Amino acid sequence: MRLLVTGDAGDIGSVVVARLLEEGHHVTVFDDLSKGYRDTVPAGARFEQGRIHDTARVIDGAGFEAVVHLAAFSRVGESVEHPARYEENNVLGTARLCNATQTPGVNKIIISPTAAVYGEPVVAIITEETKTAPVNPYGSSNLALDNDLARRAHAGECAAINLHHFNVAGAYGSYGERHRQETHLVPIALEVATGKRASLTIFGDDFPTSDVTRVRDYIHVRDIANAHVPALAAQEVGQHDIVNLGNCSRFSVQDVPEAVRNVTGHLLPTKISPRRAGAPGVLVASNERARTHPVWIPELPDVTTMVENVWRFVPERAA
Ligand code: UDP
Repeated sequence: MRLLVTGDAGDIGSVVVARLLEEGHHVTVFDDLSKGYRDTVPAGARFEQGRIHDTARVIDGAGFEAVVHLAAFSRVGESVEHPARYEENNVLGTARLCNATQTPGVNKIIISPTAAVYGEPVVAIITEETKTAPVNPYGSSNLALDNDLARRAHAGECAAINLHHFNVAGAYGSYGERHRQETHLVPIALEVATGKRASLTIFGDDFPTSDVTRVRDYIHVRDIANAHVPALAAQEVGQHDIVNLGNCSRFSVQDVPEAVRNVTGHLLPTKISPRRAGAPGVLVASNERARTHPVWIPELPDVTTMVENVWRFVPERAA
């Protein structure tokens, strides 16, 4: 297929694009490089730089059959401080992108919002039927674009699938997450292991969990990328679906420094600070639906493997 992928540079997108190219798709990447890097775009993909609001100029006449939309701001803390940025980029930007896809032929859209749509769930395992109730502007922006896409699909504008991914970690060869300003737990813990940071700050030790820190369900970035392959083939115009991508596993914040210590052999000093605003306590996904529709089997569910892959992915970390 001829595909447009928005938001490739420096995040899960580079892995998604690498996998789509391996599957024989023709990929054009569209990214404004505000948070990513040009050199993370896999060789073999065409690159166009621009804001998500301006996608019409690359879509018009290009003959794309589907869009994989990954260009979203994704920091919970930033969204609490600057909610308007999330409305502008994630919600309005996605609406403009969808409007641009009205061109005949672009009739399939895959987006990847996150578990943030579920907020602070009252159930132990989150399914696609779990009530959405975001607790931060990032989650609200995810939910708004989920709903927008569902409306468009039901109106017959396109086929749409929302892949809700849980906490991403890992790398795929030379592709993985690379952020100008790191906020995610696994890469931060690895920066402590290399001495780039003095210690790992654990946000909150007063949760009703077995070790009183937050619990997350980690999923390998390659497994997320793999899920896009059957998703591209799954839907017909008019259909909309939501599929959660996780491993149904519970990994606490305290477990991460332990895994990093095991992989790197480096000591990992930690300190406790108050809860981070807007972040829920426990997020664990059922992947029952993902395993059947579209058919998808997570291949790398082990968090230590994810940490090991990230450790090897950035050469200066492993030096
Ligand atoms: N976290 C932490 N210290 C850090 C970064 C993250 O304690 O330096 C916690 C964060 O509160 C959350 C978990 O680690 O419970 C995963 O955070 P991340 O930013 O990786 O993803 P999130 O779940 O917030 O989307």
